Amino acid sequence: MLLAGDIGGTKTLLGLFDARPVRPRPLAVQSFPTLDYDDLGTMLRTFLTAERVTADTIDSACFGVAGPVFGDTAELTNVPWKVDTHRVASALGIGRIQLLNDLQAMAYAVPVLQADELHALQKGEALRGGNIALIAAGTGLGEALLHNVDGRFVPSPSEGGHADFPARTEPEIDLLRDLTARFGRADVEHVVSGRGLINVHRTMHRQPCAAAIDLDDVDAPAQITAAGLAGTCASCAETLELFVSAYGAEAGNLALRTVATGGVFVGGGIAPKILPALTTGVFMRAFRAKQPLDAMVAAMPVNVILNADAGLLGAAVFAAEHR
Ligand SMILES: [Zn+2]
Repeated sequence: MLLAGDIGGTKTLLGLFDARPVRPRPLAVQSFPTLDYDDLGTMLRTFLTAERVTADTIDSACFGVAGPVFGDTAELTNVPWKVDTHRVASALGIGRIQLLNDLQAMAYAVPVLQADELHALQKGEALRGGNIALIAAGTGLGEALLHNVDGRFVPSPSEGGHADFPARTEPEIDLLRDLTARFGRADVEHVVSGRGLINVHRTMHRQPCAAAIDLDDVDAPAQITAAGLAGTCASCAETLELFVSAYGAEAGNLALRTVATGGVFVGGGIAPKILPALTTGVFMRAFRAKQPLDAMVAAMPVNVILNADAGLLGAAVFAAEHR
């Protein structure tokens, strides 16, 4: 049996999988609020006890974490605890727990995703031998590359979400000024992420929000996108449009940096929830506005990942491949 995890800033998914060829089959999956637990060991013990699973039945384990990975340890970018898989594995009696950056883990799922788990934003045509790029906005912004090495995809992590925010328009330049004044510098994640939606909301609302959204509410990003989609507040609609345009532009930047002629995948929790806003043309116009290489990016397949458990599935794929 395989043990897989997707440790995020807000929630953590833990799953047990059967190691089938190509794509592991889920046996049990549970979601945990990350911040309700003091450490990973306590959460894992709760899960394994609930599923009546003993450590000796686990052949291989892999976790994706939202933050940079250093060997057996990882600092979570938005969570106060540190992950030390060596310590957790010996405490629980599991042979070894392998650790990946969360986007690198999701990248392992990309080659095994099926057509009904994807929504095409641009049909394009994947070039044989081309790399694949993965971008995912959720609590934070993750990016990864699937490097095509002799026809085999090798996922690599990236901290590109923390690269500088490249403002392109007057409203984005206003936003850049606000973000720089507040944080000292503006990275892409300050705009293209759940917290980014809150930052954009602040800049776009010079008058009170007609949807009366409380920005301190944990659900504020979802409320902003809902108000933007429903049109209940004109400034929330502008917030969503700027967010979608900046998301498309950054997906295009990543596609250029990685020469993603094998395709671009848009993962993370936000995209499936704002699909109507992603299909208006704003996202793809920003993606394609990359003269002199606009023809190259216009030929790339661009797909939204609809499977909310793609990160967990990828960790299971890795666990199966590295037993
Ligand atoms: Zn509003």
